[in-house]
Amino acid sequence: MNFYNFINLIKLESIKQEKTLNLIASENYSSLSTIIYSSSCYINKYTEGYPKNRYYSGCKIFDIFENKSIIESQLLFSSLFSNVQPHSGAQANFAVFQTLLNKNDKILSLDLKSGGHLTHGFIKNFSAKIFNIINYCLDKNNLIDNNYINLIIKKEKPKLLILGYSSYQELIDWKKLNIISKKNNCYILSDISHISGFICSGLIKNPINYSDVVSSTTHKTLRGIKGGILLSNNKNIFNKINSSVFPGQQGGSISNNIISKYVSFKEANNFNFIKYTKQILINSKIMLKTFFYRGYKSSTKETINHMFLINLLNKCTLLIEKILEKNGILLNRNFFPNDIKFSKNPSAIRIGLSSVTTRKLKNLEVELISNYICDIIENYKKNYKNQIKILCLKFPIYK
Ligand code: PLP
Repeated sequence: MNFYNFINLIKLESIKQEKTLNLIASENYSSLSTIIYSSSCYINKYTEGYPKNRYYSGCKIFDIFENKSIIESQLLFSSLFSNVQPHSGAQANFAVFQTLLNKNDKILSLDLKSGGHLTHGFIKNFSAKIFNIINYCLDKNNLIDNNYINLIIKKEKPKLLILGYSSYQELIDWKKLNIISKKNNCYILSDISHISGFICSGLIKNPINYSDVVSSTTHKTLRGIKGGILLSNNKNIFNKINSSVFPGQQGGSISNNIISKYVSFKEANNFNFIKYTKQILINSKIMLKTFFYRGYKSSTKETINHMFLINLLNKCTLLIEKILEKNGILLNRNFFPNDIKFSKNPSAIRIGLSSVTTRKLKNLEVELISNYICDIIENYKKNYKNQIKILCLKFPIYK
């Protein structure tokens, strides 16, 4: 395939993004500045090491960028230390494990089916291959049960407790769980990948003072480029984290991405971003309410963030995902807590509102889309292609 065909494919993707409504909870639309700064001549530059301590020459200008990115993320999350180099959320988590744990040490985490992430101990992931994973599950109301976690910690004496999830829609009591862990000499990693946008806006409590390390992706509610960050208030641990990231598991950082991360941190450190995250919360509450009104069940009675699960019981979620895509609505099928079905066709769909809120959709549109989705689930022949196209034209991603 020649270069011009590649450009056409990218154009096709960009048209697809403009013409579809994205309800995938892990995704968002970065600003044009974030995109532009990710594609600079820094693609050509190797920047192994840290500012003022590099393993290649010619990094002096880049040191300015990396320092700015570090400082901006510290401001954003009120943390004393930050590492902006992890290539992804998974790499960030791996660096934490490598810092705090030895081979076969016990990790206590929420299982994948209840909302945990692959890197929190899924059997095929490096986490389960290297460490001894013990899972906690949710209570009968699908909520985190602090007392239950307390009991397992006392019994199993894990070295690390992971908090923060991929499909959990309720609050986490960071403070209480921190007290429980500290009493039992257990470290806490708070993985805020999905909720970091709300934390830096002050809409969800910041776990930084109740965690040994906080990890996050930069591309979900934070609305930046794909990547990871690590934060901590513990100097000792953080020095070790730095050497776990480099040279522990990564080589050169992705320099252009670090600059782009800085741009999105700066954008998130702004009143408009708080307005944006507040609107996400309004939108997700409205959408969930509409699903309830139409008789559907979620894992809990409300959502405190951008996402929620809808249990479709015996319906084929794989097929529903495809039919919705044909109508121009993107979302993903997902496990429901205690699911007995397999990952290819689990019981639920997961819906996230960050992307459509970036497009400036509000109450009315969100209620409308929820009803379209319910209609399609109830009658696969329903066709809302035109309505979705019109909505997309009315609310472009990039003007
Ligand atoms: N942690 C959580 C809670 C996530 O939801 C994700 C991604 O979905 C990750 C970590 C991993 O992020 P990445 O895909 O950047 O490796």
